[in-house]
Amino acid sequence: MSLNAFITETDIEGDGDGVLDGKTVAVKDNISTEGVPTTCGSRMLEDYEPPYDATVVERLTDAGATIVGKANMDEFGMGTTTETSYFGPTKNPVDEDHVPGGSSGGSAAAVAGGEADLALGSDTGGSVRAPAAFCGVVGIKPTYGLVSRYGLVAYANSLEQIGPIAPTVEEAAELLDVIAGPDENDGTTRAEGADSDYAGAAEGDVDGLTVGVPRELLDGADERVVDRFEAALDDLRAQGAETVDVELPSCEYAVAAYYVIAMSEASSNLARFDGVRYGNSGGFDGNWNETFAESRSEGFGDEVKRRVLLGTYALSAGYHDKYYKQAQEARAWVKQDFDEVFEDVDVVASPTMPVLPPELGESLDDPVQMYLADANTTPVNLANLPAISVPAGEADGLPVGLQLVGPKFGEETIVNAAAAVEA
Ligand code: GLN
Repeated sequence: MSLNAFITETDIEGDGDGVLDGKTVAVKDNISTEGVPTTCGSRMLEDYEPPYDATVVERLTDAGATIVGKANMDEFGMGTTTETSYFGPTKNPVDEDHVPGGSSGGSAAAVAGGEADLALGSDTGGSVRAPAAFCGVVGIKPTYGLVSRYGLVAYANSLEQIGPIAPTVEEAAELLDVIAGPDENDGTTRAEGADSDYAGAAEGDVDGLTVGVPRELLDGADERVVDRFEAALDDLRAQGAETVDVELPSCEYAVAAYYVIAMSEASSNLARFDGVRYGNSGGFDGNWNETFAESRSEGFGDEVKRRVLLGTYALSAGYHDKYYKQAQEARAWVKQDFDEVFEDVDVVASPTMPVLPPELGESLDDPVQMYLADANTTPVNLANLPAISVPAGEADGLPVGLQLVGPKFGEETIVNAAAAVEA
């Protein structure tokens, strides 16, 4: 397939009858499917077939969906462009010279390119919202605890959620209705969402809604993106919303804090891929250290190695206080900033991504530049809040996404507001 949106094509048919009857769904390849390869975009798991389905996969098939493929992704979710995949990059269907965003790039490209009606991605620091924005579709990162992570291969547990990607706000909300709600196999899930009707909330009635605008998130953003963002705000005001400037001073530290925490958790989560417990083996030399080193050197790509090394460093004795502990303090500050802002506003708006989709091949040489593109998405994960990315037009033929963040379990509010932007 020309977009390279799928690592494995599948034909897993649901039981029919449910709200997703007749719908095709792409599932990110870090979400477990029983007996079907789940590679996480890594050579390490090229041959791995999970013995069970993720809870979200069960819920999809129970609702009648057909899973048409395991979607391409940055290796273990580590990236913003889908170029770190061992299986090659995915192309952006809007303009194939550009990246689709990441790490759930295959999921968003499949939906935008018409290869699936709907998709699931995972969002640790923006991986549902970034590709949704770059491909001109809708993506939702749910409140931490709304959707079960059982069967999601962990990158950074404390930050991530599985989320829907769809052509419209209502369809994304409907998919969220299907996957949301408590799961006895994931102790971090909450009772919220059990009887949800997010699709019903997609009314676009923003009369009297207060939209907070943290101007500091516009600093350094591409002017073409800022223009589209301002136009979307005009549009919301024309429909009766009020916009007010708010301050989130902690967000200056969000990218740094996010990467320290994400890499630290990753260094621990990825320890199980040693060629013995999980993953392809580089061969046994009679020495565990050499065996593990060989398997991991061969199985992991450069970005994953960089993060495991940096994360191990950040957690090591003597440096723990300097990096990990400071990052946790910054995280607490980000949460507090949002708490204060939500005393005065209903939603917080920003561009989803500060840049337009880069050209293929442009990003890998400069990882720090790539990390900085996550400036507006990572604060949301640090604070465990819900957010949606909704298309806000195009600049130079490339999609721009608007991000709306809500208070905890405020999915209905952001879905409603996003429907107004869409209209
Ligand atoms: N781009 C971010 C990272 O590389 C977010 C990825 C994600 O949400 N999985 O960590």
